[in-house]
Amino acid sequence: MSVKLDITGIDSWGFKHDGPFIIAGPCSAESREQLLETARGIADKGVHMLRAGIWKPRTRPNCFEGMGEEGLKWLVEAGKETGLPICCECANPEHVELCLKYGVDLIWIGARTTVNPFAVQALADALEGSDIPVLVKNPINPDVELWIGALERLNKAGIKKLGAIHRGFSSARATEYRNAPNWRIFIELRRRCEGMPIICDPSHLCGKRELIPAVAQKALDLLFDGLMIESHNNPDAALSDSKQQFTPEDLGKVIAGLESRHPAL
Ligand code: PEP
Ligand code: MN
Repeated sequence: MSVKLDITGIDSWGFKHDGPFIIAGPCSAESREQLLETARGIADKGVHMLRAGIWKPRTRPNCFEGMGEEGLKWLVEAGKETGLPICCECANPEHVELCLKYGVDLIWIGARTTVNPFAVQALADALEGSDIPVLVKNPINPDVELWIGALERLNKAGIKKLGAIHRGFSSARATEYRNAPNWRIFIELRRRCEGMPIICDPSHLCGKRELIPAVAQKALDLLFDGLMIESHNNPDAALSDSKQQFTPEDLGKVIAGLESRHPAL
């Protein structure tokens, strides 16, 4: 059954891009220097938007949980300096309020938030009346209805610049991926939410650098509308997701190696 969403295509969101929309940047904003150096490094590598996690949903406590508002200021500065629009994850209304205050260009909802309809509804309520584009990551479990439900909640709150991100699903079965892809669910989402942009995040899907280029290519072959890939100026020293982040130089090589049959090309 198709889903009735009142949405606009990614090409009308006002971000410059030729072909697939590429979002890149560090898992987390860790320091001003780290974020600025990474942003400078990726700005000429075919990237269209800068990402950085500001509030980090860590699985266990006593890990680095993000820099909060201070990190948001660095993200704004990095965006201004490089000319790249900026985005980060929002998990609660306070995050939304700060992102709107600082003029963040796009927000995404993380996989751990998408599973919770109360949390998604609180975000939708906080976003009501704003024009900011929102990308909804799949819930950690392979439940397409829950994913669609989150999209519907946002759309009902008036968010028309709406899209989804496939970042793979948790599975009890061991696979080579951190979060196993499920292309069938992606295809179902695309069929049911016709015209809605869907991006692939091969970084959180794969969990390790070596696997990322092939998954990114597979996503482009399946005509995903874009990619979100993590990059850090010094991946081995990263405070989160160190194994899946590329140096800006390596990110440039990965992007240059991708072939796109996207209709926009
Ligand atoms: C992220 O993109 O930084 C992130 C935490 O991703 P996910 O919600 O896919 O785990
Ligand atoms: Mn990450």
